[in-house]
Amino acid sequence: MSSVKTTEKGGVIVQAAALERLVAAIFQAAGCEAEEARQVSHYMMDGNLTGHDSHGVIRTGRYVSWIGSRVFPGHHLSVVSDMGAIAIVDGHNGFGQIIGKEATQIGIDKAKKNGVAVVALRNSGHMGRIGTWAEMAAASNVVFIGFVNVRSSLLVAPFAGIERRMSTAPVCIGLPVEGRDPVILDFATAAVAEGKALVTLQGGKPLPADVLIGPDGKRSNDPTLLYGEVAPGAVANPMDGPGALRALGDHKGSGLAFVTELLAGALTAAGCAGPLPRPYANNMLAIFLDVAAFNADGGFAAEIKSYIEFFTSSKPEKEGGQVLVPGDPERLARKERLANGVPMAGGAWEDILRTAAKVGLTQTRIDQILGTP
Ligand code: NAD
Repeated sequence: MSSVKTTEKGGVIVQAAALERLVAAIFQAAGCEAEEARQVSHYMMDGNLTGHDSHGVIRTGRYVSWIGSRVFPGHHLSVVSDMGAIAIVDGHNGFGQIIGKEATQIGIDKAKKNGVAVVALRNSGHMGRIGTWAEMAAASNVVFIGFVNVRSSLLVAPFAGIERRMSTAPVCIGLPVEGRDPVILDFATAAVAEGKALVTLQGGKPLPADVLIGPDGKRSNDPTLLYGEVAPGAVANPMDGPGALRALGDHKGSGLAFVTELLAGALTAAGCAGPLPRPYANNMLAIFLDVAAFNADGGFAAEIKSYIEFFTSSKPEKEGGQVLVPGDPERLARKERLANGVPMAGGAWEDILRTAAKVGLTQTRIDQILGTP
């Protein structure tokens, strides 16, 4: 049975395992060791499986085009300074899927030792969906509170402004729940993550109204305000457009984005989004709390479970609606997409195939990997 099916709307649905193999083969052909390529592909797929196509394999072409400038195969994290509960670490622009895992492991290990740990990460490649790292901490019964910025990625206008001053600076908080999937609150502080605009640009889901602002101060959902007009076959660059993303939630979201820039960019000494020029990187300030250290009487698990029940028992706003806790939409998407495959817009799929050809994978090899006849 073929692992790729075309849809009526001109898109495709690809079986997750086949897509993960193809993306791994692309990164291997582009210069990664086999295990590194496997890990990069695996964590990129986590974006798709959790429903965040913006932070999944849609970025394959972009990551490959960044090799040697913004990201370097074979690079690993090094510890700049270790002060017991605090570690300052440098990712040397290794793949974020490698550096993110290494930084999170340091945070978990330190939290297990000290009850609490803070990891200040400088200079990582793009770390994808930050919730991936919160889930990794939760699997070790550790709470994760992460603030991330993207140095040199000026995309978001501050509240009451129209010029770009911030990155999409995500905030992510994860809490383990015994016997249940963790609570994972994870979002860009922009009205939408940049990758969601990329999905729209490539023929996917339209953006909500008013998430962008033009140089004339008019609000819009046209992704070309971010990318400009993209020539066929070119890699879309969000720095090329004349407009900006808006921050989420007016002054409150803009303020949250601003302090996220300060924590991830200034406190880590890695650098805030701008002013340009400055080298590209994801930077993160992450706090790790070992639940065991806060839970002497064992009340945490019972309280979090009963509060989840109370929270989700609120009468739905709409007939047939459901109140979910953060992390549930991702859990449901994972179940559905593992079973039925990952839907992709035609443009996004073509971009992956074009990248595969660019790094030297022949059509026969691609067919072999995908198991297509
Ligand atoms: P989003 O707007 O889809 O919000 C996601 C969050 O809201 C999740 O915690 C989800 O569980 C929760 N949620 C969604 N629907 C819900 C519902 N009905 N009920 C309860 N909770 C609900 O996220 P986004 O802003 O588009 O961000 C997408 C991803 O982009 C995130 O994973 C983020 O980490 C990532 N990101 C990464 C970078 C980077 O530089 N690496 C930059 C920006 C964003």
